[in-house]
Amino acid sequence: MEEVKASNFIEEIVEEDLRTGRCQSVLTRFPPEPNGYLHIGHAKSIVLNFGIAQKYGGETNLRFDDTNPETEETEYVEAIKEDIRWLGFQWARERYASDYFEQLYEFAVKLIRKGLAYVDDSSSEEIARMKGTPTEPGIESPYRNRSVEENLRLFQEMREGKYRDGEKVLRAKIDMSSPNMHMRDPIMYRIKHARHHRTGDKWCIYPMYDFAHGQSDSIERITHSICTLEFVDHRPLYNWFIEKLEIFPSRQYEFARLNLTYTVMSKRKLLQLVQKGYVSGWDDPRMPTIRGLRRRGYTPESIQDFCERIGVQKRENIIDVSLLEFCIREHLNKIAQRVMVVLDPVKLVLTNYPGAQVEWLPTENNPEDPTAGTREVPFTRELWIEREDFMENPPKKYFRLAPGMSVRLKSAYIITCTGFEKNDQGEITTIYAEYIPQSRSGHDESAMKVKGTIHWVSATHAIPVEVRLYDRLFAVENPDEQPGEFTDYINPNSLQIVSRALAEPSLAKARPEDRFQFLRKGYFCVDPDSTADHLVFNRTVTLKDTWAKEMKKQS
Ligand code: ATP
Ligand code: MG
Repeated sequence: MEEVKASNFIEEIVEEDLRTGRCQSVLTRFPPEPNGYLHIGHAKSIVLNFGIAQKYGGETNLRFDDTNPETEETEYVEAIKEDIRWLGFQWARERYASDYFEQLYEFAVKLIRKGLAYVDDSSSEEIARMKGTPTEPGIESPYRNRSVEENLRLFQEMREGKYRDGEKVLRAKIDMSSPNMHMRDPIMYRIKHARHHRTGDKWCIYPMYDFAHGQSDSIERITHSICTLEFVDHRPLYNWFIEKLEIFPSRQYEFARLNLTYTVMSKRKLLQLVQKGYVSGWDDPRMPTIRGLRRRGYTPESIQDFCERIGVQKRENIIDVSLLEFCIREHLNKIAQRVMVVLDPVKLVLTNYPGAQVEWLPTENNPEDPTAGTREVPFTRELWIEREDFMENPPKKYFRLAPGMSVRLKSAYIITCTGFEKNDQGEITTIYAEYIPQSRSGHDESAMKVKGTIHWVSATHAIPVEVRLYDRLFAVENPDEQPGEFTDYINPNSLQIVSRALAEPSLAKARPEDRFQFLRKGYFCVDPDSTADHLVFNRTVTLKDTWAKEMKKQS
């Protein structure tokens, strides 16, 4: 067997546990709360949990952590499943914390019987007040010493719906002077007369996170329950419940959540962006959601690659979003078909090219991939080129087109500019040039040397398309840490729409999610808004990291 080697501290723990026999096999879980769509932070957790199981011959459960009836919906459940599959992972079992409500109720009864849980009639304000502070011990509730019988009866009545929301809670009886606030008689159950997306009106009491998560892990016999650092302080409670209930000893391990520059990641903030209309929806291509990244043109491979490169840390940090962009650039460079699209067109007329002639010139689909083959692109007397590829008075070292200068038209001929026309506003309307018949790409006998190559499309064959140029949604590196509202830092130029770019005719066959490199312009993919006669392209990423240049200029 090929030797597997731990590549992060969690894998080291797993190897140690397998070696010492703490567990015989590995079972992890990914536990989303179905209250929103998955984002790139979740992808890190998914790649970690599924990755460990794959590496060590184990399995991963998908468990919906659905203990908050008010915020959860079936719509999110389906979307989460679709996103995980798209990322390339398949869970062994689909589970719901709500499947365990009866079992969790029995667990609570067991703790009451052991004298380790009690019903408290205090209001939430009173409970908060009696909780103390990290430096001062709390005060014991006057209801703390109720008899087991009374607690059993009251808890049963809570379940039966005898009480209103907030009238009573069930608490674990641990230690009101513990230095760990989570151990100061934490709440296990609260009353909530709310309809649940799966159990309907069956329950009016719902377990708290701390009395659902660890127990669900244990019921499923999860060996390594991996969560983010904010749960470090919950670990003693996680272990306390398992120990007192004498159930399967799942263990919790924590790693640093993913934070990205120029991005917000919490579901609450993402929801605000959607609700306030800063973006078009959860799948807006500027969103860090899996759906947003997908629509932007990211591939599952690039997201996996990113998650592997950033690794797994024990300390909070912030990852530069350029690394994510680097990963998609790397992948698309290998797989994306090259095409020519002119975003800001100006007419070029080749005065010595026969008016009725069309040549279909072979051009490589992807120089990085010899198996990608070639296609034929039509070449004619009238072409479109980028406005920025011509200058009336070029500076030194400008290697594109200007009066008297020559360039190569990609996969076609060398041309020499002979003149141009302007309109009344001083805008260039037409550029004139002569082509060199002996200079055809692949058959060049002209002996001319030119420094620049520019892209073009045939004016007779061009198809108009819409292009959406996306940029980072935030103008500052850490929108979460700025004074005022995070929405004050939205980049006003995060979307620029080019409503009439001109594309080579092969793109007429493009379908949503197809990915391309527009030569010299960047990577683009077809947006689902496209119709047969109106194609819309999203810019996934530019060819180079333009922000890195910006940052250098500023420093
Ligand atoms: P958010 O704070 O964005 O609302 P959450 O933690 O409430 O996220 P859950 O649906 O509860 O979202 O998360 C499911 C799993 O994904 C949890 O195990 C959680 O630790 C993990 N997770 C969430 N956000 C990140 C992140 N930014 N980096 C790594 N893992 C994350
Ligand atoms: Mg959560």
